[in-house]
Order: sequence, then structure tokens, then C-alpha cells
Amino acid sequence: MDYSLFTEFCKEVGLEVKLNEPMKNHNGFKTGGNADIFVTVNDTDTLCLLVETANSLGVPLFILGKGSNLLVSDKGIEGAVVSLRLMDEISIDGETVTAEAGTSLTALCVAVANEGLSGLEFAYGIPGTVGGALYMNAGAYGGEIKDVVISADFVSSCGETGTTTKENMNLGYRTSCFKTDSNIITKVTFKLTKGDKAEIWDKMNTLMGKRRDKQPLEYPSAGSTFKRPEGYFAGALIEENGLKGVSVGGAQVSEKHAGFVINKSNATTKDILDLMKKVQDTVFENNGVKLEPEVIFVGREQ
Ligand SMILES: Cc1cc2nc3c(=O)[nH]c(=O)nc-3n(C[C@H](O)[C@H](O)[C@H](O)COP(=O)(O)OP(=O)(O)OC[C@H]3O[C@@H](n4cnc5c(N)ncnc54)[C@H](O)[C@@H]3O)c2cc1C
Repeated sequence: MDYSLFTEFCKEVGLEVKLNEPMKNHNGFKTGGNADIFVTVNDTDTLCLLVETANSLGVPLFILGKGSNLLVSDKGIEGAVVSLRLMDEISIDGETVTAEAGTSLTALCVAVANEGLSGLEFAYGIPGTVGGALYMNAGAYGGEIKDVVISADFVSSCGETGTTTKENMNLGYRTSCFKTDSNIITKVTFKLTKGDKAEIWDKMNTLMGKRRDKQPLEYPSAGSTFKRPEGYFAGALIEENGLKGVSVGGAQVSEKHAGFVINKSNATTKDILDLMKKVQDTVFENNGVKLEPEVIFVGREQ
């Protein structure tokens, strides 16, 4: 595909644009091929123009958070990957907190904790952005984004701005309306509650300690590889099936936590996909349980 008109537009409006950007630098597993184009957007108005232009030129767009839940094709991603990482402002008004979609979730947790605002402690250590966290309805240790979000601003697939409220977001286990409506989240508003700063930090540090103890944070991964099947824990099922430590190429079922597939040593995305299939087939054969990926595959067919 000829992207010259699209890249010309990006440069005209002052956007940082790269060609053939290695996506392994932009995702948790650190695998995958190149994005044809990688563009970093600074504000909502420019994002609207970018969406309109991409539509008129037939350039597919993929919105990137921190890539912490992505598995990128070894054959790369067609079209433009759009990073919102520069849209990272946080504003706090009493118990109401608004953060732009590219804000790091950890940075938000720190900012609100320092203001003595409680509600986001569970999210400390989830290595994504605010936009990615709402898209996934990220959750941990008994909390989820659904508990604290009140509304979100977005840019539609036609390039128009809008606002939606929690009631319309279809928030469920690792899912939201944004998975189906293609709206790009630009800003999220949360309602938190006043708390004790020291207690909030204490809880966050305890949860971070649990992560360090239980999760293979020393290796690239996308967190839990599979969703929790009803009535089971994915990690426990995988472990019971003797799959802990099993490898395909450079990918391994973590020896520390069987719920994580890790990039142990120069894995390809194909290694990870093949290992995921092996795990799914074994668990289905022995337990009749279908493990559904929590990680999102993106890019050209492998
Ligand atoms: C070590 C580790 C631990 C983890 N622990 C947890 C955990 O405890 N709980 C949990 O829920 N998850 C966990 N995860 C997974 C991951 O961090 C979350 O799913 C996170 O919310 C993804 O955010 P992201 O910004 O990285 O999104 P990405 O991975 O970049 O994208 C995920 C999806 O969101 C879409 N998206 C991103 N931003 C936007 C936007 N602004 N508008 C529209 N769509 C958007 C993308 O297109 C993509 O489809 C973990 C991952 C790792 C690596």
C-alpha cells in the first residue's frame, strides 16, 4: 500500500511519524514484526483529523496503549499504529479525577494516592494506560475499572468526538463496549473517595509485593495469557495438567506462575501462539474446559 499521502498529512499537522517501526519495542511480550506506520498523536483535535484522513485514504488504524496486553503478528501490522502516549494529563477536582487515555495507569495511581484518594489501589502495577485499562476493564485483587469509572470521552470511527457514561459501556470481565464500537478513548473520568494517604500507599505496596512474589515480572509477557474460565483458575488448571515450564521455541509456560506464558529467550509470536494452542488443547482434552485468550492478537495473519 502507498502511504505517501497519509504520511504527508501526518507531517503537515506536525505529528511524529515513523515507517516500518519494530513493534517488539512496543508490547509486553517483546515479539512481532513491524508496523507499516507508527504515529504519535498529541491531542484530540488532531486525532479527529487523523481518523478522517485515514478513512478517506483507506489506511487501517490500530490504537496502541502500552501494548501490555498485545501479541503482535510476526508479519507485522498493516496500516498505522497510533500511540496516544503523549496524551497524559491528569486533573483532580475533589473526588473526581480525569486522565487522558495515554496516561500510565501506575502514574495515575501514584497521583491519586498522593492526594489521599482511594479506589484505584487495585490497579497499581497493571502496566497499561488509562485507555487500555478501560478498553479491557482491567482488574486485580477484587477491584476493576468498572468500580471507579464514571464517563469517557472518545473519537468515533468517523472522526467525531463524543462522551459516554459507565451505564453505556457494557463493562464486564475483561471487556467493554470499546471492543465492538471502535471508538477511540481519549479521556476517562473516575469517581474516587477520600481516604488516608498512608493507608492507600500501604495497600498499594502490599499488592505490588504480591505481584513481585507471584508473577514472573523478570520476563516479557502480557500478564495472564488466558481469561479465568467459570469455576476454575486458568493457572491452576494449566499446572494440574503438568504444563508448568513447558516450552515451544523461546516461549515458556512460566515456572513461577502457570497462568503466564513468557518470552523466555528470543521467542517469536509463532512460538507463543503454538504454546498457547498446546495449553488449550491439553486442558480441553483433560478437563473439557475451553481456555479463552485474554491477550489480544493483532496484525497480519501468521
Ligand atoms: C506483567 C503484567 C501484569 C498484568 N496484570 C494485569 C492485571 O492484574 N489485571 C489486568 O486486567 N490486566 C493485567 N495485565 C494486562 C494489561 O496490562 C491490561 O490489559 C492493560 O489494561 C492493557 O493496557 P494497555 O494500555 O497496555 O493496552 P494495549 O495492550 O496497548 O491494548 C489493549 C487493547 O486496548 C485497545 N486500546 C488501548 N488504548 C485504547 C484507547 N485509548 N482507545 C481505544 N482502544 C484502546 C487496543 O487497541 C487493544 O485492543 C498485565 C500485563 C502484564 C504484562
